[in-house]
Amino acid sequence: MPRRWRIDGRDGPRCDVLAGMLAGFLSYASGRSLAAREIGCGAAPGTPCRFVVGTERRLERLLEPVAGSDDAHLLLALDVHPAVREAGHD
Ligand SMILES: [Zn+2]
Repeated sequence: MPRRWRIDGRDGPRCDVLAGMLAGFLSYASGRSLAAREIGCGAAPGTPCRFVVGTERRLERLLEPVAGSDDAHLLLALDVHPAVREAGHD
């Protein structure tokens, strides 16, 4: 069974170098300043690493979603379990 880990924890494999390379390449290609975060790491053979790419501000909002928001639903659909915050705490 693949190992699961939370995006707010540091207990699993991390591919920060690859995330940085993706951000750099896509920033260059798009002409925008983008960041990338790994939301799932392939801890088992055949399990892909998964990344999200966007502006730093957008990624912060995505990865710390308000409970019940579209971002929270999206992450759960991707089997990512972020630390959610309550509405009104920006
Ligand atoms: Zn990874």
